[in-house]
Amino acid sequence: MPRESRAAKTQRANALLDCLAQVYPVEEKCLLQYHDAFSLLISVMLSAQTTDAAVDKVTPVLFSRWPDPASLAAASVAEVSETIHSLGFYHTKAKNCVLCAQKLLADFGGDVPDTMAELISLPGVGRKTANIVLNCAFNRAEGIAVDTHVFRIARRWRLSAATEPTKVEQDLLKVIDSSRWSMVNHSLVLFGREYCDARNPRCASCPVVDLCPAAP
Ligand code: SF4
Repeated sequence: MPRESRAAKTQRANALLDCLAQVYPVEEKCLLQYHDAFSLLISVMLSAQTTDAAVDKVTPVLFSRWPDPASLAAASVAEVSETIHSLGFYHTKAKNCVLCAQKLLADFGGDVPDTMAELISLPGVGRKTANIVLNCAFNRAEGIAVDTHVFRIARRWRLSAATEPTKVEQDLLKVIDSSRWSMVNHSLVLFGREYCDARNPRCASCPVVDLCPAAP
């Protein structure tokens, strides 16, 4: 692919997202089950390196035992680990959940904060988690949540050549209009699952094949 100007890349990125908006109209931005900002924050923390379906299986029990920051802050890491042991990295996740709840109580009056800077100050919370919480719980988009689907597709679409999610996010923010930031993760997760799979992309039936530089 010849070198592309920023303007051309911006135009192509927005055309790609226009196509996806037709295929995946945004009704519910977060695909995880949650009922408030706290349960969303914890669910997204648990979703690292695992599927939403696996998270949704453990969270009903988790939140019935520890429904709020106060109860989770007082929980033992061993008990939380046992409850979420079907998830990858469950011990680290359990430890971060308890530490996160403790910090919510100590520094934020038991509320989930609504700024990027405050969210990423919580144990186990990076920009991906913070972006999803801001977007879905507070209806604010300060960036784009780069998970495994967004990372892979952004690189296939040659919108970024970066090898770290935070750098891919910065590249995307330069070429995607801020009015679209809130829908990017949702659309690309659904598109990645249905068409642009990591191992077997379904390019022959892909709705954006004409705009994709990685198309065969
Ligand atoms: S053409 Fe293939 S590689 Fe490109 S976006 Fe579609 S499925 Fe992914």
